[in-house]
Amino acid sequence: MVGLSAEAQIAALRAGEVSSADLVEEQLARAADDPWGSFLRLDADGARARARAIDAAPERPPLAGIPIAVKDVLSTRDIETTCGSRILEGFRPVYTATSVARLEAAGAVVIGKTNMDEFAMGSSTENSAYQLTRNPWDADRVPGGSSGGSAACVAARQAPWSLGSDTGGSIRQPAALCGIVGMKPTYGAVSRYGLIAFASSLDQIGPFARTVRDAALLLSHLVGRDPLDSTSLEWPEPVRVPTAERLDGLRVGLVQELMGEGTEPGVREAVERAMGVVEDLGGTVVPISLPSSEQGLATYYVIAPAECSANLARFDGIRYGARVAAETLLEHYEGTRGALFGPEVKRRIMLGTFALASGYYDQYYGRAQRVRTLIVRDFREAFAQVDLVASPTSPTVAFRLGERTDDPYQMYLADICTIPVSLAGLPALSIPCGLADGLPVGLQLAGPAFSENRLLDAAHALEQAIGFDTLPPGVEG
Ligand code: GLN
Repeated sequence: MVGLSAEAQIAALRAGEVSSADLVEEQLARAADDPWGSFLRLDADGARARARAIDAAPERPPLAGIPIAVKDVLSTRDIETTCGSRILEGFRPVYTATSVARLEAAGAVVIGKTNMDEFAMGSSTENSAYQLTRNPWDADRVPGGSSGGSAACVAARQAPWSLGSDTGGSIRQPAALCGIVGMKPTYGAVSRYGLIAFASSLDQIGPFARTVRDAALLLSHLVGRDPLDSTSLEWPEPVRVPTAERLDGLRVGLVQELMGEGTEPGVREAVERAMGVVEDLGGTVVPISLPSSEQGLATYYVIAPAECSANLARFDGIRYGARVAAETLLEHYEGTRGALFGPEVKRRIMLGTFALASGYYDQYYGRAQRVRTLIVRDFREAFAQVDLVASPTSPTVAFRLGERTDDPYQMYLADICTIPVSLAGLPALSIPCGLADGLPVGLQLAGPAFSENRLLDAAHALEQAIGFDTLPPGVEG
């Protein structure tokens, strides 16, 4: 059963071929055998109890009895939630994030919390304070990040699907590196209530899955207004599970700036082949330019640290998580924030505090916000000519563990293709489009706000025509 898509697991449950208790047991066994380091902790007892209750209930909600893994950035009531940080070690939230609560209301069974870069800052999951996560395609390589655990567990069949969060690429990039589907919806599509904040104007929750249809199904249960998150939106139309086989009339713009020198040749070739498939299916591909996107990385690395420096001020060792006894206030801060935040988190807090300092505010934060507006305008102009824009999701395939840990700038470059979309608040997904050097390549498709259904249709048609096998070599299907 662990090799099946969520959709196929649902069908097997409905047909009475398996009980939720058995299904959850099988997934738990696979998840507990964790050479990849996907999970920070499992909730085996909780999952078993829920599965038994679902088996015994007369009503069957739509996702009844289907296991799911959840990134440790999402609060889960009474289950330790660390955000990959020592500062939250032992923290047990008193409520569950709306996104998770909605899935549970639909019958999903949370089996565990997945590893991540500390406070979702990173592109390789190596910034986790707890453990490394390995890429199921090659154990010496990173799974991407920051949602590396959520991507690895789906690729390794430890869960049929999972939740991640994406601020600048943290769903799409690990999905690309692990050869699965990952989607960041329109900003505001999914309630952020209970999502531990990194950069609030960018953070979005979204699905990882092995098929586009599964990603759509999961997303359909996540979207919609939540009175507990004032930035969440009334969703205009239901998210449909796609069936499209053709792309007739679809205009796809291939972003020229992201197909140049910084992109590995193998990645470029796989994306070009996918553009050939777009045309085979009746679509047209035109080159487009997003001129301001070249400033995307610089803009993001002012705005995201600025917001994080404000959001992370709450971890003062008094109200949340770990507390280190000290004589003076300064010693207290040094003992908690100084000792329990990792180096990348401290780097970002310092950068952000600097960018927001009076006297510098307009020079850095104000200017970054103005460039952000230009990036929004670039996309608006592109969508006057094309329906969707395409690019690689990541300029490279999965890199080696340790290869970029000493060079933050190289690590930041991993998100060069995903960040402009995040700054513009647009929906985008990554699907696997082939292999380069035996490692998966992701194709990113992005659309205008609220174009989720069109994106999912296009991604489904392409996925079917490309026929990528998501099973990593050596992983049992
Ligand atoms: N890698 C980017 C960063 O480090 C994006 C992270 C994310 O999307 N959470 O900020």
